[in-house]
Amino acid sequence: MRIDLHSHSTASDGTDSPAQLVAAAGAADLDVVALTDHDTVSGWDDAAAAAQLAGITVVPGAEISCRWHGVSLHLLAYLFDRNDAALLAEMERTRSGRVSRAEIMVAQLATRYPITWPQVQRHASGGTIGRPHIADALVASGVVSSRDEAFDRFLHSRSPYYVPHVAPEPVHAVRLVRAAGGVAVFAHPGAQARGAVVPDSLIGEMAAAGMLGLEVAHRDHDEPTRTRLRALAGELGLLVTGSSDYHGTGKLNRLGENTTSEEAYDAIVAAATSGLVPVNGRLPSAEES
Ligand code: AMP
Ligand code: ZN
Ligand code: FE
Ligand code: FE
Repeated sequence: MRIDLHSHSTASDGTDSPAQLVAAAGAADLDVVALTDHDTVSGWDDAAAAAQLAGITVVPGAEISCRWHGVSLHLLAYLFDRNDAALLAEMERTRSGRVSRAEIMVAQLATRYPITWPQVQRHASGGTIGRPHIADALVASGVVSSRDEAFDRFLHSRSPYYVPHVAPEPVHAVRLVRAAGGVAVFAHPGAQARGAVVPDSLIGEMAAAGMLGLEVAHRDHDEPTRTRLRALAGELGLLVTGSSDYHGTGKLNRLGENTTSEEAYDAIVAAATSGLVPVNGRLPSAEES
């Protein structure tokens, strides 16, 4: 079984539609792919429909933005109840905070570069807006040649143009995911190139609040980081996952470049209590659940 538990579609900052992403997962010989768009479930239905055609299993999920003492971190949430009011409200709060933050970043960039807010909104096409959409606008107006160059020059977390956005505190986010019947896994906890990372003590608190695992095999983790995180997972009794963090053509990451063991996947499905367990690629719809 080939299992990839982290990917993004046009519902956030990926470039494949949910259906295209699922087809690409089939072409990459994956048996299971999790759709984990930033702070939204809006791609779930299209992905589930496409999963039936592709004959693969889509795990419904999201990548929840969190903030801890000024440090940005990401929490993967799987198989939660899409109708859970508290979790939905928190994601909605983050999405609207992302809009205000992007508007400020664009206004600051517009003082020196050809970029407009409507242009950035067009690139987001209604999905959760993020820095990659600002990058797309900078590419379209010829300021940079790729998302990567836009991040390197203007959008990285230490850039003068960087503005943080509202996001929940991570222990609270873990509790919300658990209360919604879902499973929480810390996304790329050691990705230092993106900015500061949180201390192991916070990871311990998140584990105590019900977090189930750490994403260890990820492109942004070098071998020493993976070794350290595997040891930490062992100490805290957390399972270990691996995934691509695929974003379509927006990043180099290829579907299935890192994968999760069948044992870890089975444990994630077993720990979910929302009842949204995908069977043969089919998900219960909002009406049925
Ligand atoms: P934001 O969610 O607005 O804070 O933007 C962070 C997102 O940008 C990450 O989740 C990645 O999807 C993406 N990202 C980060 N660095 C890069 C990069 N160098 N090139 C393309 N996308 C990136
Ligand atoms: Zn992303
Ligand atoms: Fe992330
Ligand atoms: Fe991601």
